[in-house]
Amino acid sequence: MKIKIEYIWMDGHVPTAKLRSKTKVIEGPVTDISEIPEWGFDGSSTMQAEGEDSDCILKPVRYISDPIRGGNHLLVICEVFTAEGKAHASNTRAKLKVIADKYRDQEAWFGIEQEYTLFKGRSPLGWPDGGYPAPQGPFYCGVGADEVFGRELVETHLDRCINAGLNISGINAEVMPGQWEFQIGPCGPLEAADEIWLARWLLYRTGEESKVSATLHPKPVKGDWNGAGAHTNFSTKAMRSNGGLELIHEACRKLEKNHHEHILQYGAHNEERLTGLHETCSFEDFRYGVSDRGASVRIPLATALAGNGYLEDRRPSANMDPYIVCRMLLETVCGD
Ligand code: ADP
Ligand code: MN
Ligand code: MN
Ligand code: MN
Repeated sequence: MKIKIEYIWMDGHVPTAKLRSKTKVIEGPVTDISEIPEWGFDGSSTMQAEGEDSDCILKPVRYISDPIRGGNHLLVICEVFTAEGKAHASNTRAKLKVIADKYRDQEAWFGIEQEYTLFKGRSPLGWPDGGYPAPQGPFYCGVGADEVFGRELVETHLDRCINAGLNISGINAEVMPGQWEFQIGPCGPLEAADEIWLARWLLYRTGEESKVSATLHPKPVKGDWNGAGAHTNFSTKAMRSNGGLELIHEACRKLEKNHHEHILQYGAHNEERLTGLHETCSFEDFRYGVSDRGASVRIPLATALAGNGYLEDRRPSANMDPYIVCRMLLETVCGD
């Protein structure tokens, strides 16, 4: 039986990698990642190679069932290697893998809140052509045709994520009309980051059907409108256990010390979003606190009350690379 496998990878686009994919037909079904062959592509078309000698290698690393094609068809996320067999410079997953293995015994969990904005043509979905809707206020978790735009697409995307077996844990309409969020996790670093990329791919692919595009730009509309982030919730086994709150405070102090290094890699154009307004802390500053949605890092109230749990890094922007953000959190918090 022939099956279709969609090979998905991140390109070399700067400053923000874009998703690419293409289909290979093989004899199926497939029951293990080792049965999915390596493949190649022309790196000169994806900003991953120069003119001649442009072949790059796609190495399958995680597959899920394809909820759109159904049957035994698959989606597979790939790492990119050079023809010489080295991890390509754009392959941020390979670097996360090293660090995830190094700190495996700490059993880190990540829960990522992916915000995004739907666009129809040049305006956010539901916005009057060339104009603005009513000011923000009623839209967050709203209901009703005058307040919520794109629910059909969002529901289809959720169903597809569930059917594909992703660790999707919820969705909600956001503060700016046309803006939404889905959450992946909690699960391990490679799993969470792979699944964010797969869920993004499913979102873009689902949008094709109604000619709606999703953007991850951190500030899709300038002015008094909320930006789009990717709050990254993080815990280690010790943080989740009795007395973990002290370790969470210690983690916050480590993150404070490394604020500048982190913020530079938390997504392009993030300074447009982290202004100190709209439930953010300024790009320049670092603050942490219990239940504080104007902080860089928030300790959820339930965590403070229970004395253990997790922290929420509110700084990553919607267009961040989860391989980079998860790696930096592991390095800073789990390292000495
Ligand atoms: P918010 O109140 O900030 O909107 P959400 O409910 O959108 O929070 O997202 C919270 C995220 O935190 C979810 O993705 C959830 O899976 C994740 N999460 C819950 N517990 C943990 C934990 N112990 N470690 C890491 N992430 C967690
Ligand atoms: Mn949320
Ligand atoms: Mn949100
Ligand atoms: Mn949040």
